[in-house]
Amino acid sequence: MKNRFNPIFIGIFSALVFPMIISTGINAGKESPLMRSMERLEKKLTDKYGVEQRDRLLTGMKQAASYWREEDGGAEVFEKFVEENFAGDSETLDSVFNRFELILEKVNGSVHEMSTTMRLQTDLDAGPILPMDRVFAGYDVGAHIKDDLFNNKLAFVVLLNFPLRSLEERLTNGKKWTRRQWAEARLAQRFSKRIPAHVNLKLSEAASASDQYIADYNIWMHHLVDADGKRIFPEGLRLLSHWNLRDELKANYSNSENGLEKQQMIFKVMERIVDQTIPEIVIDNPFVDWNPYTNEVFPAAVNDTDRKMPANIGLSGEREPDTRYRILLDCFLASRMVDEFSPAAPTLIARRFDEDREIREKDVEKMLIDVLSSPLVKDIAQLIKKRLGRGLVPYDIWYNGFSSTGKYSEAELDELVMKRYPTPAEFKKDIPKFLRLYGFADEKADQIAANILVEAARGSGHASGGEMRYQPARLRTRVGAKGIDYKGFNIAVHELGHNVEQTIDMNDIDHTLLAGVPNTAFTEAFAYVFQENDLMLLGLDPGHDSESDAVQVLSDFWNTYEIGGVSLVDMRIWRWMYSNPDATPAELRKASIQISKDVWNEYFAPVFGKKDIYILGVYSHIIHSFLYLPDYAIGHMIAFQVKDQMKKAGNIGGEFERMALMGNVAPDLWMINAAGTPVGAKALLEATSKALEGIK
Ligand SMILES: [Zn+2]
Repeated sequence: MKNRFNPIFIGIFSALVFPMIISTGINAGKESPLMRSMERLEKKLTDKYGVEQRDRLLTGMKQAASYWREEDGGAEVFEKFVEENFAGDSETLDSVFNRFELILEKVNGSVHEMSTTMRLQTDLDAGPILPMDRVFAGYDVGAHIKDDLFNNKLAFVVLLNFPLRSLEERLTNGKKWTRRQWAEARLAQRFSKRIPAHVNLKLSEAASASDQYIADYNIWMHHLVDADGKRIFPEGLRLLSHWNLRDELKANYSNSENGLEKQQMIFKVMERIVDQTIPEIVIDNPFVDWNPYTNEVFPAAVNDTDRKMPANIGLSGEREPDTRYRILLDCFLASRMVDEFSPAAPTLIARRFDEDREIREKDVEKMLIDVLSSPLVKDIAQLIKKRLGRGLVPYDIWYNGFSSTGKYSEAELDELVMKRYPTPAEFKKDIPKFLRLYGFADEKADQIAANILVEAARGSGHASGGEMRYQPARLRTRVGAKGIDYKGFNIAVHELGHNVEQTIDMNDIDHTLLAGVPNTAFTEAFAYVFQENDLMLLGLDPGHDSESDAVQVLSDFWNTYEIGGVSLVDMRIWRWMYSNPDATPAELRKASIQISKDVWNEYFAPVFGKKDIYILGVYSHIIHSFLYLPDYAIGHMIAFQVKDQMKKAGNIGGEFERMALMGNVAPDLWMINAAGTPVGAKALLEATSKALEGIK
């Protein structure tokens, strides 16, 4: 996953992922109390600067007026402000643009530096968290900057001089814009909302609380017992829900000894997390044993931790009291507080799709359903059955026998990787080598590698890019007592993909206002390309031939199918919350389970032959990522287009660089530049069909 502390002050989502992007301009219908002033100014400034400036002037004044509040001053103050700050000639306009671009870069970067430092203790695997550390982590140091910029009227300077472009304009006219015009559009968008600081604060508190809840949600696997008290998982294994649980499940496809048994147990644990029948006491607790089938809890009969046994464990078998859904509800309620200050996108759903992704909600849904309802699903399911030699079970949505890692057992890979990377430092040292293997030129590889820090994460891995030129990008992954294991390595390589993108399109881009990618699906695309080629970095044979290439395509498709279902669940849960804003956590639990079942019954049950499964609801992102999940699904499709292009060009590194330098423009425009076609599922579906023929 990408970091959640991106451009800090540009929007209300400083605690989240995305820069704010507005989709429509000002409420033109409303009579402004400043109308008379604007009429006077229109005449006066047109006389002064010439009639060719009139349109710009009118747009700018209307924009500024629509954000102007009583406390900003009366008509006189407004008139004086406009006269002094309207850039009536191109030279002055250039100065305004250049100054803002530079200053915003430095402000973003500085705030990012502070926030990163304040979160080090909670983000990194660096010993106990003190109560104050949680306060620091929840402290959004940039929360007031945007208010300040409205209060001292610098925001109005931007709104007066640079037009806000609607989503439709960006999607259609944007194709003909210059780079500078795109940068101007992004500049104006940064001031398209005026959200009170206390609302921003609530939002970042909810985000931080949900992060913490998820980051601490570990299951101690050695303490899972069956009816005979038998333990099937190794000592010390602590798995974070849901990522590690899912990956452990995947890893066991190559375990012929007791893989099936392990998978079934993990599946049961997941169900209990979703439906909240999990005993609260077993969460991140190595002092109890638990039989997930009968749901009985016992005092731990084995010790596999350095943690000190608490004086009173208390063996209550009480279920987790819907905390999972209370946390999600808090995220929703905080998001809802923003709505009234965001008239152009008055729900989190609209902000996510129209503003952050810049792909319409209905278009994203169509992309997902194109995959979910494809007849290819059944063909691939047939193939999986044949390979497994048994009928499908629900958790085969995570079947990984297609992927190239299936060739080596997890244990082999763990041993190799842990020996090579006992600490983050050894991984860091190898980054230049990795980048050369991906095809980056020597000098470029060294330059990028020098900009990346590698650190041990407390929770799951994440990547955090610099917010000003030459600020380090940070790569975080889990490091165990014996070093980085294969899971940690695989995640680290994924995060490295993010870091490389972040470094290129911040340090080498023409306009820092265009730093980044159109939306997070694109950075996930880069991360996937790296991740899928991780065995090559270990000097292992990924076994590429035409058959294995075809198999890789099927794997991509199967992953997209799975995460597409999960994304649809995420989208429907948010719609349900907006329709039921007064819901209790228990009601949300029931609704979420029903939604998971509905999606399953529509798109999975016909293939798996079993109804009413709710495992799609296990994703942690549903709880703490504010409708981020669809980015993974469209990310797979986008990744496919990107990969395909890299394959055609015969070079990951060079193409990576060329694509990344396009920066943050509209998604379709970016993709047309990168691969010659707009964003969509078509490329994936066509290749899947071809791959299936090849296999048959
Ligand atoms: Zn990612």
